[in-house]
Amino acid sequence: MNLLDLKFDNRFSNSLPADPNPENRPRQVHNAAYSWATPKAFESPQLMAFSPEVAELVGINPAEDPATLANLFSGKQLLPGMQPYAMCYGGHQFGNWAGQLGDGRAINLGEVVNSQGDHWALQLKGAGATPYSRTADGYAALRSSIREFLCSEAMFHLGVPTTRALTLVATGEKVVRDMFYDGRPQLEIGAVVCRVAPSFIRFGQFQLPASRGDLALLKQFADFTLTSHFPQLGEPCSESYAAMFAEVCRLTAEMVAHWERVGFVHGVMNTDNMSILGLTIDYGPYGWLDNYDPEWTPNTTDAERRRYRFGHQAEIALWNLYQLGSALYPLVEDLKPLEAGIALYQRHHGEQRQQMMRAKLGIETAGETTADSDFFDELRQLLAAVETDMTLFYRALATMDVATLCDSKTTDESLLQPLADCYYRPEQLGEQYMQRMGNWLRHYGTRLQQENSADQPRQARMNRVNPKYVLRNYLAQLAIDKADQGDLSLLHELFEVMKNPYDEQPEFDHHAGKRPDWARQRAGCSMLSCSS
Ligand code: AMP
Ligand code: MG
Repeated sequence: MNLLDLKFDNRFSNSLPADPNPENRPRQVHNAAYSWATPKAFESPQLMAFSPEVAELVGINPAEDPATLANLFSGKQLLPGMQPYAMCYGGHQFGNWAGQLGDGRAINLGEVVNSQGDHWALQLKGAGATPYSRTADGYAALRSSIREFLCSEAMFHLGVPTTRALTLVATGEKVVRDMFYDGRPQLEIGAVVCRVAPSFIRFGQFQLPASRGDLALLKQFADFTLTSHFPQLGEPCSESYAAMFAEVCRLTAEMVAHWERVGFVHGVMNTDNMSILGLTIDYGPYGWLDNYDPEWTPNTTDAERRRYRFGHQAEIALWNLYQLGSALYPLVEDLKPLEAGIALYQRHHGEQRQQMMRAKLGIETAGETTADSDFFDELRQLLAAVETDMTLFYRALATMDVATLCDSKTTDESLLQPLADCYYRPEQLGEQYMQRMGNWLRHYGTRLQQENSADQPRQARMNRVNPKYVLRNYLAQLAIDKADQGDLSLLHELFEVMKNPYDEQPEFDHHAGKRPDWARQRAGCSMLSCSS
């Protein structure tokens, strides 16, 4: 399709009130859902990476000219129908109410309607300052843009609900970043990612008008979200607002269970980074578990309290849902249905988690709930007890056969043999650990035997939920290091590998290995700051 034929239907900006002030300087914006904002026209933008799947999704020809794509998706050139704007929202940051935040470096281009009639919002991240930029510049560094581009597509292919990424464009200009906030600012390459999602509405969009007592705007938001994104819930009224809340609770529970399944740590679960559609949004200092450690967070800003650590994400999502529920209260005017939404989250997340653990282990029949929970907990404790690579563990577990697991003559040592490669520090495997893991494996074998589990089909099933390839922190960092030197080969290679994360792809085995020792404490690999 010719780019000029792309059809835009900008529901968000057509339906909701615009900020009448055209000035582009940092300020508080009241009684408006967004401000008009013009992307900066970078002189020589260059296309660095492109997702043909996302292009097809929105109706762009995957063979489109790279220079045209670079101009369009850096914001230099606008298509007819694009009406760029920045959204106004607030949020809780690290548990504290932060007031107005808004799209400080995101500029929405509009909503494309594809041939199936689906709306896809296009959003540039890093295309210049908006009224919500506060003291920052509105730009993004290449390193964080590579991380967002690669991870959003990797997450999609893993089956995790997420915003997508269409393009990664180098702006041709430098940005100044003090990566570790230690007074050593450096010039970095600037970039823009074009993100794509059915909607970029966040919890914070409801919170800001609620905090200001602007019930008219709050209602407009809720009505818009309901009719555009949850039309099945009916016309706006107290009951449908509550039903929408319950639906957000359900979607959020599923998103978090997926994160737990693949070992993803978001890193900044502030309420402004929570999507109303339960999509993973705003890839900042996120990370992937190498060794299973529920206490781990990659975010240096959160290093002390670890509010957003891996094992705390479900609780934080719940806390965030409470904030959304409070914001919606003036519309629902009844606590009961909101509490029901919260209860639904807890129940649904619990069930999802049990189901997910069964799927990861290839178990088909649910056991007695408490017994199952104890069995799964014991495994999680074992994984954390010695440094165990989570991704490798589940793939190795899938290779085991019931006969060996159930053979009473098998020693602990030989039972653990197939797992040998999952351990970071083999010297940590003391006798006590071996015995405990041996017992767990035998218990596992019995479970499988009870349901007459056949080895081959079980392995295939397990390998469909336990990825072989995840975007390990050090892999993304290696791609960044190369791209900084002008070599995009690893960026492109990882992008391809991550499209089939559950497949063996033996030619890419070297991207499926344990984190190398050099990456243990290296910036970008184990620690990331919010500076981006
Ligand atoms: P984050 O934690 O990345 O979600 O960012 C929190 C807030 O800061 C959001 O309102 C962002 O739009 C804004 N922000 C982050 N980085 C920049 C930047 N370089 N320029 C302008 N605004 C930014
Ligand atoms: Mg954000």
